[in-house]
Amino acid sequence: MSYDGLPPLKDVVDRFELRAKKSLGQNFLFDLNITNKIARAAGDLTQSTVIEVGPGPGGLTRALLANGAKRVIAVERDGRCLPALAEVAAHYPERLEVISGDALATDFAALAAGAADVRIVANLPYNIGTELLIRWLTGPKWPPYWNSMTLMFQKEVAQRIVAKPGDNAYGRLGVLAGWRCKSDIVFDLPPQAFSPPPKVNSAVVHIEPREAPLATDERVLSRVTEAAFGQRRKMLRQSLKSLGGEALLAQAGIEATRRAETLSVEEFVDLSRLVQAGVTI
Ligand code: SAM
Repeated sequence: MSYDGLPPLKDVVDRFELRAKKSLGQNFLFDLNITNKIARAAGDLTQSTVIEVGPGPGGLTRALLANGAKRVIAVERDGRCLPALAEVAAHYPERLEVISGDALATDFAALAAGAADVRIVANLPYNIGTELLIRWLTGPKWPPYWNSMTLMFQKEVAQRIVAKPGDNAYGRLGVLAGWRCKSDIVFDLPPQAFSPPPKVNSAVVHIEPREAPLATDERVLSRVTEAAFGQRRKMLRQSLKSLGGEALLAQAGIEATRRAETLSVEEFVDLSRLVQAGVTI
């Protein structure tokens, strides 16, 4: 038996023959110190409904429940994991709901409907991690249905999410994340922390909505960042030419000779507001 009264995860994986599949981004966490650390990074979960993507054999799921999560709703695509997860659900009556399905086809807001405090916590499959993040960060309804997200990414993606102006990793993803949220890397993990080890380092990112979100239309912001970072080595007067170039930049009080990587999120928001208002085009 393990700390939570359930069999050790390695035994579970052997018993249900859960050999990791690369196509499903399966890099499992067996170390309780690590799964507990992720659960704790998500904050006090005792009043929370936690949405987990990809519970796999249930390592992080068990840590979330052992750390007091009121309820966990876990979406898993690999049907082979369901019997192992059913054992966890039986051990924590009424607290774990496992949904067999594809996270990319899941309406998470509907799953969370009615819950008071929703947190998204996951060791994400890296092949769909950025796509899911972008979906959670965008959409017309803000503040969102979730209060925080604590997510494992490959480290290079984590650095892009938290990047600030001037950082090498600063780009469209950093602006998108910084526009409505504040994000921090909580800790890094080496490949050996996972089974099997991925080729890259990983990091856990904690994301919370900004208290005072910067208002603009996300499609316009996306057009501006796409144009600016699409030619990131060029001066903005050149890269933003089709959106208004020098006239637009003058309106925003931004030097036309600056480059995209030097602009703060607030400056990108100012530019997209002006583009939206049709000031120069
Ligand atoms: N949570 C487990 C852990 O930490 O050990 C497993 C994490 S593993 C990195 C990613 C998990 O996501 C796998 O269980 C995989 O089967 C699942 N997965 C992959 N693609 C998925 C999808 N489209 N929808 C839901 N789950 C998916």
